[in-house]
Amino acid sequence: MPMIRMNDFKSEPEDLIRAQVAAAERIIRSGWFVLGPEVEAFEKQWAEASAAKFSIGVANGMDAIELGLRASGIVPGDEIITTPMTAFASTLAIIRAGATPVLADIDETSGLLSPESAARCIGPKTKGILLVHLYGQVRDMPKWLDLCGSHKIQLFEDCAQAHLASADGRTAGNFGPWGAYSFYPTKNLGCIGDGGALNTNSSELDAKVRVLRNYGQSKRYYHPTLGMNSRLDELQAGILMTRLAKLKPFTERRKDISQRYHAEIKNSAIRLLAPPQTRDSHVHHLFVVLTDARERLQQHMKDKGVEALIHYPVPVHKQEPCAEIKRDPNGLKAVERYADRCLSVPIHPQMSDADVKTVIDALNGFK
Ligand SMILES: *Cc1c(COP(=O)(O)O)cnc(C)c1O
Repeated sequence: MPMIRMNDFKSEPEDLIRAQVAAAERIIRSGWFVLGPEVEAFEKQWAEASAAKFSIGVANGMDAIELGLRASGIVPGDEIITTPMTAFASTLAIIRAGATPVLADIDETSGLLSPESAARCIGPKTKGILLVHLYGQVRDMPKWLDLCGSHKIQLFEDCAQAHLASADGRTAGNFGPWGAYSFYPTKNLGCIGDGGALNTNSSELDAKVRVLRNYGQSKRYYHPTLGMNSRLDELQAGILMTRLAKLKPFTERRKDISQRYHAEIKNSAIRLLAPPQTRDSHVHHLFVVLTDARERLQQHMKDKGVEALIHYPVPVHKQEPCAEIKRDPNGLKAVERYADRCLSVPIHPQMSDADVKTVIDALNGFK
């Protein structure tokens, strides 16, 4: 019996594989490989799909965050509050932008940043909060908008796991000045290499990021500002358009699987996170369970033919270069407990109903 993996690109629909091969051939024959018509077309399609006025294709999700921060006027000395339970790239992007990350603790019922802890981290140097829509969940946005509004700080969104998630009629990336997306292959919308985008509704930010992503070049060979090399390839843009055509049905499949997990996983040794506030507010990039016996559960799942991985085993403040990082004065106890207990089980769109049952039975059979 083959393992049920966290991702299974090889079993994707044949029409999708053929569309990707056709896109690759079209681009190879076009002779134009970086920032061209494919990138422009994808930027338009992605902006429309994610309900943003503008989308700027960049090299990866981490760069999208850095470019967003730089375009928003974040400079050395500015503090940005974020979560220690995320891909390391969230924090690294803040550091790369020259700013100072400050880590707040998490809410153990969702794995997301705790608004109470974030409020304790706000000081005179705080310029913004980088909210990570972890696992694909957009939660408690009125609270975050209130907190940022009352302290006159900006709300930045790391949407790398939250393609198409929406709450209160707003799609992720539209709650503050911008939202940063990653198209790393395993993300809900992924390419066949690295890619990312910054979404914004501000024509001013759009113009700034377009200059910053290309060496700070305003017109050919003129550099009014010091930018980066963070351009999106034509090949990745072409592939992304074929995959964007499948994103809605793939996302609905993730939501259906999550609904079954929430209804059918019943085991007192395993705790589920809070269910989504609405069906559309969570796109289930990952499905995470909590247990005091993680190592045993991971091995048990493997024995039952199910791959299970840890996202993330080491919170940011426990990483070697981050030992001295600024944090909530009350400490980061919740995230430390959480990082020892979280385990992700497969929830990708290629899973059959039988696969879903295998995962549920394996979890329910754990003692
Ligand atoms: C993947 C990811 C990133 C970084 O994206 P890359 O494209 O790998 O640079 C940032 N934040 C979160 C939450 C992610 O999951």
